Amino acid sequence: MALFGRRSVTAAPLDGVDVVLADLDGVVYAGAGALPHAVESLNGARDGRTLAYITNNASRTDASVASHLTELGLPTRPHDVVTSPQAAMRLLASRIPAGSTVLVVGGDGLVVEVEKAGFAVTRSADDAPAAVVQGFAPEVGWTQLAEAAFALKVPEEEGGIPWIATNTDWTIPQSRGIAPGNGTLVSAVHTAVGRLATVAGKPEVPIFQEAVSRFQAQHPLFLGDRLDTDILGASRAGIESALVLTGIDRPKHVLAAPEGSRPTYILGDLRELHEPYPEVRVADCVATVRGARVQIDGPDVRILSEGDRPVDLVRAGAAAIWSTGRAIYGFRIPERLYADPFHRP
Ligand SMILES: [Mg+2]
Repeated sequence: MALFGRRSVTAAPLDGVDVVLADLDGVVYAGAGALPHAVESLNGARDGRTLAYITNNASRTDASVASHLTELGLPTRPHDVVTSPQAAMRLLASRIPAGSTVLVVGGDGLVVEVEKAGFAVTRSADDAPAAVVQGFAPEVGWTQLAEAAFALKVPEEEGGIPWIATNTDWTIPQSRGIAPGNGTLVSAVHTAVGRLATVAGKPEVPIFQEAVSRFQAQHPLFLGDRLDTDILGASRAGIESALVLTGIDRPKHVLAAPEGSRPTYILGDLRELHEPYPEVRVADCVATVRGARVQIDGPDVRILSEGDRPVDLVRAGAAAIWSTGRAIYGFRIPERLYADPFHRP
């Protein structure tokens, strides 16, 4: 927590940061529209800093993401968008010779990156590809998955070719509901060949490494809405992170976050990037964040005082539970600690 961080206890999360890296869905926008306070807070964060974006979505190009963000009021160049296909190209370049032929399972967003990286694209296992790269596109079907399986039939330890997945998100939210994501399609190939893909996107580190190296970041801060991809990935990459409660994960998920998936900062919305982050103190089994105080008493978690701001209660509850080193299942949690007055898409 901030108490132990590099900055003074009353500094704002943005202080000392040179590159802000933001996830998109649940942080900047939900569906087609921007989230409340996101655009002005991010534009304000630019002051002397690089503002860039990281996305696991392999079906959109950096240019199409940049033009969407620009339309929302966040002027963005394609160069400012780091995609999982770009991270996959970084991995590919380290595994196979320049100019090799690559079997692509995916759509235009991925094909564009493979060609930009100087590789030749094939859709057939018969062309003796040097690697398979797999990313989500709505048109991926059995034929493409079967070609991948044919190309990957030899295990890697027996000289088989590398298999790189842009990301392994299990699901992909659509306006009509939740649909299978790239992880589900990668899993279909895995079931056929018994091999595991190397993953480029969050929560793995290549996508973060690509961002850090592209922007030469010294003290980056990553903004995400998911503990199991955004915060876990940033933490693995050694990057400080802020979880913003405007997307997928809710206060109850924050309290239950396992070690490794705990953000440096917990924010109700992005305005708090600019505000002093309160001191988080844990002493004698009581966590204190401004007026919010939460006590651990054996198996009981008790709210001693709620404080004035709901986000402080979440911060205090998380600090209290995390400080015990015990899993959430062992505690009796008052329902009030799960209160969720934050904006949900
Ligand atoms: Mg997100």
